Amino acid sequence: MILCPVCLSEKKKHRFHVPGATVSRCLCCSHSYSHDLQSSPMEVYNEGYFKQDHENWFKYPNYPLFQKIELMITKKYNKKDISILDVGCGNGDFLKFLIKKGFNNLTGIDFSHNEHPVIKFFQGNVFEIKSLFTQKFDVIVTLATVEHVEDVRQFVSILCSLLNPGGLVCIMTLDENALIYRLTRMAKAAGISHGVNRLYDKHHLNHFSQRSLRNLIQVCGDFEILEHDGINFPVPAIDLPKSILNFLYRPMIEFFFFVTDLFKRGRFLQVISFSSCYYRAVHGKNVKKAHFSGTVDQESSIFSICSR
Ligand SMILES: [Zn+2]
Repeated sequence: MILCPVCLSEKKKHRFHVPGATVSRCLCCSHSYSHDLQSSPMEVYNEGYFKQDHENWFKYPNYPLFQKIELMITKKYNKKDISILDVGCGNGDFLKFLIKKGFNNLTGIDFSHNEHPVIKFFQGNVFEIKSLFTQKFDVIVTLATVEHVEDVRQFVSILCSLLNPGGLVCIMTLDENALIYRLTRMAKAAGISHGVNRLYDKHHLNHFSQRSLRNLIQVCGDFEILEHDGINFPVPAIDLPKSILNFLYRPMIEFFFFVTDLFKRGRFLQVISFSSCYYRAVHGKNVKKAHFSGTVDQESSIFSICSR
């Protein structure tokens, strides 16, 4: 049975197919997710991943995002000796940025191998090697990772199990209601699938709107959401698949970033920070009943009907 990864409802509406996957929307909480994958969702995180497929993404780190998260951290902790974990740290760019800002208790985990004289790196899957951590952390950051995770409830649960009481979590992912997403879906309806196939790539299992990301956090425990905002990334960091239309796509994306930055709406990425009031363990999919503190918005009521 296929269940919504956020609210565990089986009620869903088919949206469209992309190569190797089907995308549906949950009728209870409106979260969009991919299923019926025709191959493993696991990407191969080798040199080609960093230097070919996502060459520009890693070549031009998102420093405005890094600064935004650093501000979230310093608002919570006005000191530099706090412990920070980056889950899915890639090549460690964010942690290296934090070193320049004076932080020094830094840990990263990723499928890829990293070494650094200051940063403590672990290689592997956080689902499998979390027991290797001998410490808990004041801050846990995970950037552009949650959309790749199949069991997002367990993922948040693991993050929180590694968090010191009252600690801070920052999650960045794509925003399915971003202007570019909306336009690519309109283009698909008109028969042009290029953009949708890229954004709903089979490696992206979860397609969070701002609403469904907040719902995920609410369903996983008693948390206080501190900030939730949209952000774009540097235009040079755009990686486009080889296409003769790239001369057209790149300036279009640049224009959309400009407009969404101007109006502060519909930006491509979203970043949310939350703090544990106290952590109520949610053990993956075995828990059917959701708990809501009702502190964020009325959307909680959706779950009170659907998740039981
Ligand atoms: Zn749902």
